[in-house]
Amino acid sequence: MLFSGVDGHICDECIERGHQMLMEEKKSTDTFSVGDIKLLKPKEIKEFIDQYVIGQEYAKKVLSVAVYNHYKRLSQPVTDDDIDIEKSNIIMTGETGTGKTLLARTIAKMLHVPFTIVDATVLTEAGYVGEDIESLLTRLLQAADYNVEAAQRGIVFIDEIDKIARKGDNPSITRDVSGEGVQQGLLKLLEGSVVNVPPQGGRKHPDQKMIAVDTKNILFICGGAFEGIDRVIAKRLNTQVVGYGSHKIQERVDKENILQYIIPDDIRKFGLIPEIVGRLPVLTHLNPLDKDALKRILNEPKNSIIKQYQKLFDIDGIKLSFTDDALDFIVDQAVLFKLGARGLRSICESIMLEAMFDMPSGNKKTFKVDKKYAESKMDRNAALKFQNAG
Ligand code: ADP
Repeated sequence: MLFSGVDGHICDECIERGHQMLMEEKKSTDTFSVGDIKLLKPKEIKEFIDQYVIGQEYAKKVLSVAVYNHYKRLSQPVTDDDIDIEKSNIIMTGETGTGKTLLARTIAKMLHVPFTIVDATVLTEAGYVGEDIESLLTRLLQAADYNVEAAQRGIVFIDEIDKIARKGDNPSITRDVSGEGVQQGLLKLLEGSVVNVPPQGGRKHPDQKMIAVDTKNILFICGGAFEGIDRVIAKRLNTQVVGYGSHKIQERVDKENILQYIIPDDIRKFGLIPEIVGRLPVLTHLNPLDKDALKRILNEPKNSIIKQYQKLFDIDGIKLSFTDDALDFIVDQAVLFKLGARGLRSICESIMLEAMFDMPSGNKKTFKVDKKYAESKMDRNAALKFQNAG
């Protein structure tokens, strides 16, 4: 196809080729350039996160401020006053499935910087089966298309940081392969140092050329469930409140959500070495999700589960809707089987399967899922399946 201009023509193939070249050029030059970091104000950051993450107001505020400060610090030219803004790595505590990873992902989406998630459980000391600490930077490099500059300003989310806590009080009896040694290695990265990173990762390529990565400006966000830390917190609260007026303080303690009283020292008592705790100055917690929050998660986020199903059906020209009591039913099932937010999708899948199978071949243009329908689909084997999972 030929397109005519004032005094020339261009064909569709040339347009396509040109477009491709422009996109490639754009990608290589400015995907991760400094100018690309659009510095939103903390309030704007939170508003952005609000579109994807339900509740967790406190954690959102803490993260918004921390991310804002971090990038403000990066965009500052080097000055000769002696004020050095220090980096503010973050640690998030909260039960699994309350949105820790989602928060980190959402922030990365907003910032357009290289972002990677690593699971702390696979990290071991060098020389043992598992991955070296440096592998975490390999992943970041890969996420940045090996643009070292970009990777050096990226974000690493370290999940399950609680799993590398020192086990027990006496680490010297047995070798603690995935405990304190890993923490020492991690400390080096958190503090900011130049690390030689194997670009392909792993130990399988012994003669690969190393890439030097400076971790000074990489933002580390750690997350963990810290199962059992509530006892540490409760114990501290109890011992603190002995004496005059203590009963009043005791009464005010919200026993359902003890995590909200967490302080860095609790994390140290849990088994993270003090140096690591010191390098994660921003400590925040996520609240357990109640029924109300779960229902909102189904419905409200920009890419909520319900909206995703509606889009799927819409492609077949079918208008899908859920009644309010059907949503309540789904939430109740998630609570019943203790699946939390993570279970919402699998429950919906069970309920929707047959409709997704049948309806594209039929000629119905609307489909309403009510409680009765949802119940009937969960009745069969689904309930049994989830029962066993729980
Ligand atoms: P965590 O990292 O705390 O274990 P995730 O962030 O992986 O939990 O959450 C699992 C899933 O549950 C997410 O993908 C998301 O769909 C849903 N979810 C959890 N918490 C929230 C929340 N506060 N708002 C919206 N969705 C949530």
